[in-house]
Amino acid sequence: MSQKLTAVKGMNDLLPPDSNAWVWLESVVQKVMRRFAYSNIRTPIVEPTALFVRGLGEVTDIVEKEMYSFEDRLNHEQLTLRPEATAGVVRATIEHNMLYDGGKRLYYMGPMFRHERPQRGRYRQFHQIGAEALGFALPDVDAELILMAHTLWKELGLKNVKLELNSLGEPEERLKHRQALIAYFESHSALLDEDAKRRLHSNPLRILDTKNPAMQDLVNAAPNLMDFLGEKSKSHLKGVCSILDANWVEYSLNARLVRGMDYYNLTVFEFITDQLGSQGTICGGGRYDYLIAQMGGKPAPAVGWAMGVERVIELLKDANLIPKVQGPDVFAVVPESENLEVVMQVLQTLRSKGISVQMHSPSASGNPGSTVTAPITGNGGDEKAARGSMKSQFKRADASGASFALVFGAAELSKGVVTVKSLRDGVGAQREESISQIDGWASSLQSGGEMKDWE
Ligand code: ATP
Ligand code: MG
Repeated sequence: MSQKLTAVKGMNDLLPPDSNAWVWLESVVQKVMRRFAYSNIRTPIVEPTALFVRGLGEVTDIVEKEMYSFEDRLNHEQLTLRPEATAGVVRATIEHNMLYDGGKRLYYMGPMFRHERPQRGRYRQFHQIGAEALGFALPDVDAELILMAHTLWKELGLKNVKLELNSLGEPEERLKHRQALIAYFESHSALLDEDAKRRLHSNPLRILDTKNPAMQDLVNAAPNLMDFLGEKSKSHLKGVCSILDANWVEYSLNARLVRGMDYYNLTVFEFITDQLGSQGTICGGGRYDYLIAQMGGKPAPAVGWAMGVERVIELLKDANLIPKVQGPDVFAVVPESENLEVVMQVLQTLRSKGISVQMHSPSASGNPGSTVTAPITGNGGDEKAARGSMKSQFKRADASGASFALVFGAAELSKGVVTVKSLRDGVGAQREESISQIDGWASSLQSGGEMKDWE
């Protein structure tokens, strides 16, 4: 017996019908992105390890302990499964000189990889949908990105998502704050945990991001970056806030919000819910005006966000907001196998008109090659039994959620017609439609508004 193969811990298969929720979410995202005129970008899942070390900062949770890094066995390159997508998007922007004719607004969707302890809302392969606006310096684009996420929650029907906002200021302001932080934490060194001690001199700001409950009081009383911001930084934040105010987007300013990557400056924000336990951040982002230059590009400002798809889906499920996928428009009941060529031709015509069609095909029983497998073609006496009785086919038609059953019986086909049976509105009503004019019937379905993808 060969050993059972299973998925890697923390990495999940996504199966129907659960995957329908994802397809729907992605369709809503695409609609919103289009409304804001953001274009799709797809970058590789594997990138050189150096990209993330340089991009995210050496002293970050991700780079220190969460990356899936390995050496390519053949050419010994150091590679990493992307833990986030901003670094890759910036690399691609530089590599393809995408900002040569002005700023770019981009979005992506896809899997990310972090070696964390799997739990609700935290996986080792998870998915992010993200947006980046590259080459824009003014606060209206920060606000636009926040409005876009806000619009997305609205379109999805999500309520109770709170926006928290902060400014990390500019590097020189952060430096002054950093000195004050080090002095403060040094004077309370007995209260620091191991992580904090290690980061005290390398990245003290990150100590504010601690999840250790024992350190919360200490961190709450630490010097506040807001007090170190200069006029320009303050007015950038004000610019963002006034646009949000004008659009009735509520937010709270949270001076403790620092985010997990080193590349941020000025605006940072998170969308948070209290309905997912401790994994309550569903979307986070901010400005990263120095990253493009730091990665070797011509200096250009940028701002973006990323949301955790698993967490958003979980919220949508809890709130019962996920629409059911519609069944097919048509289920084809095919009692005999003799006329399959004609049947499949008709079904292709319907599909070419945009009608969703499920063909009844008998499921094979047993293992491939076993003698109990039903014959697909042939004229054996058990042919009818193999395709399934009319009754069992109608049962499947009902279960499929189809609006209509089309019955392709030999008697109908010899007359050049097919029986159309309504399975939903006016159940049982039936009439004959001419096969040669089946595209006309298909058009009548479309104009009758039969063709919704989601209920
Ligand atoms: P957290 O503080 O929860 O670890 P983070 O700051 O590491 O989050 P980001 O790097 O900002 O997260 O990623 C953006 C979003 O991606 C998060 O807000 C979250 O919704 C989602 N996310 C991050 N890590 C995971 C994970 N391991 N599993 C599922 N979703 C995740
Ligand atoms: Mg994290």
